[in-house]
Amino acid sequence: MDINEAKLKLTALKSKINQWAKEYYIHDMPTVDDTEYDLAMNQLKELEKQYPELITVDSPTQKVGGTVSEKFEKYVHKKPMLSLADIFSWEEFEKFNNQVAKETGTTDNEYYAELKIDGLSISLNYDQGVLQNAVTRGDGRVGENVTTNVKTIKSIPLSISDQGPIEIRGEIFLSKKEFEKINNERALNGEQLFANPRNAAAGTLRQLDSSIVAKRNLDAFLYYYLNDEDRQTNTQAKALAKIASLGIKTNKEGRLCKTLAEVKAYIDEYTIKRAELDYEIDGIVFKINNFNLHEQIGYTAKTPKWAVAYKFPAEVKETQLLDIFPSVGRTGKITYNAKLAPVQIAGTTVSAATLNNAEQIKAKALKVGATVKIKKAGDIIPEVLSVVETDSYHKLEAWEPAEICPACKNRLEKSLGEVDQFCVNFSCPAQIVRSLEHYASRAAADIVGLGGRTIEKLYEEKIITNIVDIYKITEYEEKIVNFEKFGRKSYQNLVESIIRSKTNSLDKTLFGLGIRHVGSKTAKILAERFLTIDNLATADYEELSAIDSIGEVLAQSIVDWFNIEANQQIIKELKAMGVNLSYNGPQVNFESPIVKKTFVITGTLSQPRDYFKNLVEQNGGKVVGSVSKKTDYLLAGDAAGSKLEKAQELEVEVINEEMFYNLLKGE
Ligand code: NAD
Repeated sequence: MDINEAKLKLTALKSKINQWAKEYYIHDMPTVDDTEYDLAMNQLKELEKQYPELITVDSPTQKVGGTVSEKFEKYVHKKPMLSLADIFSWEEFEKFNNQVAKETGTTDNEYYAELKIDGLSISLNYDQGVLQNAVTRGDGRVGENVTTNVKTIKSIPLSISDQGPIEIRGEIFLSKKEFEKINNERALNGEQLFANPRNAAAGTLRQLDSSIVAKRNLDAFLYYYLNDEDRQTNTQAKALAKIASLGIKTNKEGRLCKTLAEVKAYIDEYTIKRAELDYEIDGIVFKINNFNLHEQIGYTAKTPKWAVAYKFPAEVKETQLLDIFPSVGRTGKITYNAKLAPVQIAGTTVSAATLNNAEQIKAKALKVGATVKIKKAGDIIPEVLSVVETDSYHKLEAWEPAEICPACKNRLEKSLGEVDQFCVNFSCPAQIVRSLEHYASRAAADIVGLGGRTIEKLYEEKIITNIVDIYKITEYEEKIVNFEKFGRKSYQNLVESIIRSKTNSLDKTLFGLGIRHVGSKTAKILAERFLTIDNLATADYEELSAIDSIGEVLAQSIVDWFNIEANQQIIKELKAMGVNLSYNGPQVNFESPIVKKTFVITGTLSQPRDYFKNLVEQNGGKVVGSVSKKTDYLLAGDAAGSKLEKAQELEVEVINEEMFYNLLKGE
């Protein structure tokens, strides 16, 4: 490859990696898995090694993590927060140790082994015994101040006995259980799933609403102790003991490895034990135990040279693909599923995986009966990677997509240019059952006990065939209480929950109606804006598409839904059954003079900041964490600090409480 070719390749790789890094670090939603990202990164590193003259300061190989979101106040770390160099095999560990030996003069180095927690780094700054701030790694130099959110984490104390200024760094994470809970909820709300606990933890911590963070049960393990005054704490083993003595949570699986044999044994042990832990780890970190050697061994721009992350390879197993079968979603979309001969991966038995659409199955040339390679994406969701081309594979029949709906036998349709097949029969039983399930789900009507098998049975028995029927089930009391595994108590609970759901706010019911593209967030926006279902039903395309977050497709979809007579009838009957179809939440004044204005709040005010934040939001404005050119007003109380300076520098209008109230009145 000549230098011009290398340049082109380099530019393409950099732009691809930068895009992936943005999706991963900023939006907490990766679009490719880590292996693909690491592969591209390694190609880039190789090319840069060959052509060092082409290395630029903005190359992803020279940067730590992502950039810093405007949503939060920025914080410059006292010492950079670095990443870790990765290795993937024992041979690479030996190579790493040989590099270390060049500085220490021996290959007999003492390492402290710690689990590499799959979360996101956090820096906690304590002074005079009080937690002053908590900051993300950000780009390594500047992080995001997420103190309010971190204060909701139970394992991080707000005060400690040590009075001196100390910084403690570690990892914030979500347990496997909490991660599953969040993703289940997101699935019900029609939101995109988090790829792994790390992205879920990062997404949670970078939420603007601390009450959501508090509900998600983030946890933390702390592992770095930075205190220049404390000369006693001079090894990693002592540092961890010190952190623990301050009442801060450390991970108890760590171990001092005095020999390389002990390092190897630790890797072998935790490669197996990993599956039993109730949090995800993606490797093991080995740190030179003696702090006095750290400076001597040194740092690269991105990583310390005295530590390394041994990454576990993603576990890939082979098994037999027993069947490929389609299922119908609530919108009629066909999803294909794989039935697999049960196999153990990363601690659980896998016997099914989703294959998405027919095109993906064709691209992988999957056939029923074939041996396939599977892994757990992000070690969580099983994924069929490829077929193993054995002799018998070629004798197997080619797989063909379904032509008819598995539930109603109607011919499936696929629009030009689309990858998904759809059952377009509105009275398809599978779609109806899925829609009813959606209506009853937690983020919608929240009817407890009306899911899965119960709803299928009620549909089969023709007791519930549309959402209005849900409110009439008392007519079938005797029949229902005699259902198998369904007693009078379950029936009473179900009825109580149905009655309770009648008072739900419009946003929940609206989401439950399953209007195409209307997720729970959009439903909230519509409910706040239109207040009643009748107002929304009469809104036209122009009015809807003029709303900030409502695009053209969405606006058309809403108009179309309300134009269908059967849907109008449902609304009429829901009203007749006493279902509330008005918005119960705090009303937003869209006529307010501060609509769409951006505020930053700082300093000590006469009321908590949330009070002002709510006022701004109820008046259609927005509150963000840091001052930028886009900020319209800085609401400053007493003792306002750096934000006030920043606002003055950027010529952002600074107002006090009185001026704020005048602004609301339009004065
Ligand atoms: P990293 O995750 O490989 O390792 C560094 C981090 O490990 C530290 O910052 C720290 O937060 C953490 N850590 C956990 N336990 C630790 C312990 N006991 N001691 C010290 N540190 C500990 O590095 P990174 O720079 O954060 O991220 C790179 C990783 O992210 C790669 O694996 C890459 O695949 C992935 N990534 C994926 C995508 C994608 O699109 N899929 C995009 C960007 C990055």
